[in-house]
Amino acid sequence: MSSLFPALTVGPAGRDALRFGDRSLTYGELGATTGALAARIGGAGRVAVWATPTLETAVAVPAALEAGVAAVPLNPKSGEKELGHILADSAPELVLAAPGDELPPALAHLERVDVDVRATGPALTPDPAPGARASDEHPALVVYTSGTTGPPKGAVIPRRAIAATLDALADAWQWTGDDVLVHGLPLFHVHGLVLGVLGPLRRGGSVRHLGRFSTEGVTRELHDGATMLFGVPTMYHRIAQTLPDDPGLAKALGRARLLVSGSAALPVHDHERITAATGRRVIERYGMTETLMNTSVRADGEPRAGTVGVPLPGVELRLVEEDGSPITPYDGETVGEIQVRGPNLFTEYLNRPDATAAAFTDDGWFRTGDMAVRDPDGYVRIVGRKATDLIKSGGYKIGAGEIENALLEYPGVREAAVTGEPDPDLGERIVAWIVPADPQSPPTAQELADHVASRLAPHKRPRIVHYLGGLPRNDMGKIMKRALTRD
Ligand code: ATP
Ligand code: MG
Repeated sequence: MSSLFPALTVGPAGRDALRFGDRSLTYGELGATTGALAARIGGAGRVAVWATPTLETAVAVPAALEAGVAAVPLNPKSGEKELGHILADSAPELVLAAPGDELPPALAHLERVDVDVRATGPALTPDPAPGARASDEHPALVVYTSGTTGPPKGAVIPRRAIAATLDALADAWQWTGDDVLVHGLPLFHVHGLVLGVLGPLRRGGSVRHLGRFSTEGVTRELHDGATMLFGVPTMYHRIAQTLPDDPGLAKALGRARLLVSGSAALPVHDHERITAATGRRVIERYGMTETLMNTSVRADGEPRAGTVGVPLPGVELRLVEEDGSPITPYDGETVGEIQVRGPNLFTEYLNRPDATAAAFTDDGWFRTGDMAVRDPDGYVRIVGRKATDLIKSGGYKIGAGEIENALLEYPGVREAAVTGEPDPDLGERIVAWIVPADPQSPPTAQELADHVASRLAPHKRPRIVHYLGGLPRNDMGKIMKRALTRD
């Protein structure tokens, strides 16, 4: 019998577990609801979840865990083609949805089960629930990666990994049942689903979901007793921009116990603006669909903007050179690929034995594809992705991230992304993609190059600058560098 999830929902029966707008469930109600749903879906192999940001999704996933059935969260904004790919790949037997949800034709062949969040009465599942008998290695979720660097891959996430990552975060963030989370993220990736829903439920705390992120919602909930906020960098950017005109927001953030950012790099400029206006620092953590969480700045740790902190308890992390040899000692300068090992890792990419094999070294380290340096005391600074963010120019290996951070500091720059393109002399040349605050008078290419050269080093200056109305981003706000092309 699994010792990891004797009960996922551990809060006192009368405490709010989940609140979405004006609908909420106490722990007592949640237990009855998930029990009834688990009894309906128990025995299925895999179930798809139409993962709208609703109470129904937040009930469906714990119910699947309780039933010992793997859940496949679907992004309701995906196109038919992507949905078709995910459904063909994951082959769920039924789909869980909210009553009234309109499902696209790609799902028409599946039996539909509406999630009834008003189920009451004694739980119908046998005691213990089938999920409690499932082995720790049993797949709990199949989550598709964000598709930032290629077609999304289905990561098979065992129950063990979820328990390990949530318990490690509880240690790093001093996360308890008294915490109330303000949540404004989608529920089809690990950030919003595993950290944002299963996390509070495992601690016995509360989730308040905004439906859609807004600074007004954040202000309201933090004034109304919420203690923590999880966000992606685009949300903190909105916050940083709103703060000068919104003293209520500054006051609310000042009261928060924990502000956490992840899923992509938090620009140093935004971090500094938030700290200046609120006195609070944003804690950055680094994770992936395949590994759940790897590192975080600790709640009791030293703040350091631009770093993702230290490996979480139980996570082994190393940086390796291109030939696979580990970098040691850490000097804060030598760039290597991050590799991780630990109980937080996925088991495999669904139906992709070759991709799975290629992702691991012979001795079981997972190759993240992310490049970083480590300070001598162990803090990790992500430089960017090996595939898109590492520019080899004039014999140097240059990370796009530090150039983006420098560009974002320059007045008149609203958004910035940096890529490399082939150059006959340099190997690659540095290209900046700039969204100016005022399209009528953007900063000139010369000004930007001079700024970067003075701030970092001359060889890091962009040689070419393109101006755009906005950067291509996915629904987590991640910049899709593949889509940045000249025309
Ligand atoms: P795909 O694997 O399909 O190309 P993806 O890698 O964006 O998409 P996810 O698993 O959602 O899919 O994202 C994990 C990646 O997000 C990490 O590998 C890393 O590049 C990036 N990331 C996450 N947190 C941070 C952070 N705090 N700072 C910088 N990058 C981060
Ligand atoms: Mg990835």
